[in-house]
Amino acid sequence: MPQILPQVLQRARALGDRGAVLFDLDSTLLDNRPRQARILREFAAQRAIEPLLSCIPEHFDGWSLKVPMRVCGLPDPEVDTLEPQAKSFWRERFFTSEYCVDDVAMAGATEYVEQVMQTGARLIYCTGRHPAMRQGTIECFVREGFPIPDESRVTLLMKPQFEMHDDEWKLIARDEIARIGELVAAFDNEPTHINTYREQFPQALCVHLLTDESARGVVVHESIPSVFDFEFDC
Ligand SMILES: [Mg+2]
Repeated sequence: MPQILPQVLQRARALGDRGAVLFDLDSTLLDNRPRQARILREFAAQRAIEPLLSCIPEHFDGWSLKVPMRVCGLPDPEVDTLEPQAKSFWRERFFTSEYCVDDVAMAGATEYVEQVMQTGARLIYCTGRHPAMRQGTIECFVREGFPIPDESRVTLLMKPQFEMHDDEWKLIARDEIARIGELVAAFDNEPTHINTYREQFPQALCVHLLTDESARGVVVHESIPSVFDFEFDC
């Protein structure tokens, strides 16, 4: 039984440019932790919170800001007081081009996407990011070595409005995906999204990224394999 990553390439090769392979961005192709750490360091600089100035990406584990605050040595009462303020500082910056440009490729992601391109398949990035983040996203792609959207071979599908819920957006995106080509495979870290792709595109190989998720208690469908990143199958 072939492992899932080579299996996707094999199937993409068979379809050539009639086929499309889809990737989510955040926590699928891209690691957001450098962006998170920079925001927390800037918060620390503005408030003169000395221990937080040394915050690094590795201090993050999931989406809580309390975790890196504790790792940096802030005592619990201070963490509890500062966290809501830090979160509001974070919210003003996280969803912007200026900050998302800091993201880095997940292990093996650049190489794997290149292998997908070599199969002749079309490439789709489908993300919950909104158009104001497009510039930073493209700059990040250039730096990390991902193919740049050209609206023919490579398409970047972004959520039309920031306020739209990601789940609603991914349903709307379904029609655009179907127009581009026959979906060979989809990769996403959110259980809800990967389960939805499986329902919408029963012929596609759906792959779950076991990175982080929005912790809504949704179980990945039993038929969907998970991978830790693009270097090793689980
Ligand atoms: Mg994601």
